[in-house]
Amino acid sequence: MSPLAPAAAPIALEAARFRAYGPRHIDEIAQRYGMSGDMRDTVRLISEVLPFRVNEYVLDQLVDWAAIPEDPIFRMVFPQRGMLPEDDIGRLAKLVDDPSAKRELRAEVRRIRAGLNPHPSGQKQLNVPTVEGTEIPGLQHKYRETVLYFPGQGQTCHSYCTYCFRWAQFVGDADLRFASPTPDPLIGYLGEHPEVSDVLVTGGDPMVMTTERLRRHLEPLLEIETVRTIRIGTKSVAYWPHRFVSDPDADDTLRLFEQIVASGRNIAVMAHFSHPRELGTDVARRALARIRGTGALVYCQAPLVAHVNDDARTWSELWRAELAAGAVPYYLFVERDTGPYEYFKVPLAKASAIYRSAYRTLPGLARTVRGPVMSATPGKVVVDGVTETAQGRFFELRLLQARDPQLIGRPFRAHYSTTAAWLDDLRLAPDTPADIVAAVRGPQP
Ligand SMILES: *Cc1c(COP(=O)(O)O)cnc(C)c1O
Ligand code: SF4
Repeated sequence: MSPLAPAAAPIALEAARFRAYGPRHIDEIAQRYGMSGDMRDTVRLISEVLPFRVNEYVLDQLVDWAAIPEDPIFRMVFPQRGMLPEDDIGRLAKLVDDPSAKRELRAEVRRIRAGLNPHPSGQKQLNVPTVEGTEIPGLQHKYRETVLYFPGQGQTCHSYCTYCFRWAQFVGDADLRFASPTPDPLIGYLGEHPEVSDVLVTGGDPMVMTTERLRRHLEPLLEIETVRTIRIGTKSVAYWPHRFVSDPDADDTLRLFEQIVASGRNIAVMAHFSHPRELGTDVARRALARIRGTGALVYCQAPLVAHVNDDARTWSELWRAELAAGAVPYYLFVERDTGPYEYFKVPLAKASAIYRSAYRTLPGLARTVRGPVMSATPGKVVVDGVTETAQGRFFELRLLQARDPQLIGRPFRAHYSTTAAWLDDLRLAPDTPADIVAAVRGPQP
């Protein structure tokens, strides 16, 4: 970031103590960092509906306060105008100012949230495994070799992304939560499913847990011989790198990673980086160096979102910074249809062009990245590019991952469109094989 950017004095790295800021601290933040009254009111209004959480490090080291509101990190963490329809904002504004309208306000907030597609891609209905007809909470099993595990105490994050597709679980609606308090059901399930080699621990962010808690969830996995890789999906290196450097249990975390490596398994940190600035601080680079020092692998992924990282230069810089830090660029995701989607969405044609322009600039070792990828109902669909044929222009697509292993790696085509932003918006080519048509168009939840 620009050396002029941080308005506040930089905090001493070693002394940094985690402190979360939420909707109740908006005045304090506005005053400390110089947010206009109008911006502050907007953040306050929108955060009635969408989750808002930030911390000292993000505020001091990542946001460029001289560039708000256009600053990409500001857009990434602060709810703002454009994320909800103007009509909804107007109604909210009236209700918030009326102390006698508390119940109406709550009802209005519920109504707006329900209209924001809180559960995209049938994640909940389609992928929860059952044992003797009973659903196992905190697990999703979509692809043969990989189980997703949601530990109960890892369902928040060090800061929230305004584009998060799991936003609904952060706004406190009890029936939207799904997570497991203990690893016992997971261990039982894995015992019966030796085909599962990968456990992807996710959230929220599992790294919000203390090491002691994290250990309680991970150690039992080492008893299951068929589990070969433990992945941790996390944005902590971007939002709170002190977790691996100076937190009281930072060293214990590294010992836990070493223990997993010593058991002959892979531990892979699936790091979410959205912008090269997140890799620009000393503490983030030290965190990555320390993680790599344990023998852990680091793979990087993030969605492409308007207002945050929708240009080729940002991705080129990001992927090269990842490689320089010894991390592997892995997925560029297409944003899902949920939450403030209209604000963040990038059409597939534009996403593909950005991907290719950035990819072209990369050294070979960074061309491990794949994208733009839609994590959709049938599987992970990558847009490989656009082709011109005698029949017209087409998107070249491919299933990188699929519920049905027969479909993995299969290419197919859809008619080119400048506006389509998701698989559902695409018209498949007339010669698309029937099994792919069935998977892509199949029973939608
Ligand atoms: C992406 C994803 C995985 C992991 O897929 P890989 O291609 O192995 O990285 C597993 N489960 C779900 C539900 C996913 O979306
Ligand atoms: S860190 Fe991940 S889970 Fe947390 S808000 Fe951001 S995208 Fe969502």
